Amino acid sequence: MSESSAYYSVNRYLREQFGKKVYKLALDGGFTCPTRDGSKGTRGCIFCAGGSGDFAVPVGESADQAIEIAKLVVAGKSAEKYIAYFQSFTGTYAPVHRLRSLYTGILRHPDIVALSIGTRPDCLGEEVVELLKELNSFKPVWIELGLQTIHPETAEYIRRGYPLSDFDDAVSHLLAAGIPVIVHMIIGLPGETSEMIRQTAEYIGKSGAQGIKFQLLHVLEGTDLAEDYAEGKFQALTMEEYIAVLEDCIRSIPPEMVVHRLTGDGAKQRLLSPLWSADKKRVLNEINRAFQRDHVVQGEFCSKTL
Ligand code: SF4
Repeated sequence: MSESSAYYSVNRYLREQFGKKVYKLALDGGFTCPTRDGSKGTRGCIFCAGGSGDFAVPVGESADQAIEIAKLVVAGKSAEKYIAYFQSFTGTYAPVHRLRSLYTGILRHPDIVALSIGTRPDCLGEEVVELLKELNSFKPVWIELGLQTIHPETAEYIRRGYPLSDFDDAVSHLLAAGIPVIVHMIIGLPGETSEMIRQTAEYIGKSGAQGIKFQLLHVLEGTDLAEDYAEGKFQALTMEEYIAVLEDCIRSIPPEMVVHRLTGDGAKQRLLSPLWSADKKRVLNEINRAFQRDHVVQGEFCSKTL
């Protein structure tokens, strides 16, 4: 099934921006997180199996070499231009001089048209934002923020390690610096109702961020979340439940917000639940079919006032 026009897809956005097909190259800058290195915790977020960058190529001494290796991973998908994508762990959690050298080396490569960095709102100090602004004047730089939820009790349960006000501050500093923001949220977190999930989407929609990524909660082997799941403390969503909530979320974000992801990209080998999510192609087909059936239109629930 072709892509639904019910929402503003990232593919459409990339075509509009670059006029051609571009692919993401997953790179790993060798970062950690404050919730892992002891600053705010040692076990990471409760659902995290290691920074969500399973296929990322480590950038060692040579940025060019890492880019060429990462291109081989997407070989077969012919593209001339690429977005360098740092999703593993916290992509701004390092001294500024190290960030400068890493990201400058990447952006200098002629095939790289943009840089996308996944990070946390509490790792975006003034100097980091200044650096991002400088890099963004050379080639586009996007920041992806892992918010996951706006609800404090869930944030505490997942050990996110920062309050909602940090998110608000980070978004306003990034936007003031002219840097586009993409926000990640998780659908299916324990204890959250459909309405709570929709409220998170609505909040992100009103935050000023340009993009959103919806991620289904995956229960992955070896995580603390898997232990709670095994003890029966919560249940994973069915595909029907997921799609119904996703529809509400799409209706609750403004029409101009770019939807970067509709489901998850979990490590299949470690996926314990929900197993239906492993067949991503089928899930996307079902989502697009449901959007058509239910006449979903992005932004139809949006009110203009905060
Ligand atoms: S979810 Fe992100 S911030 Fe949390 S532990 Fe994993 S990589 Fe670090």
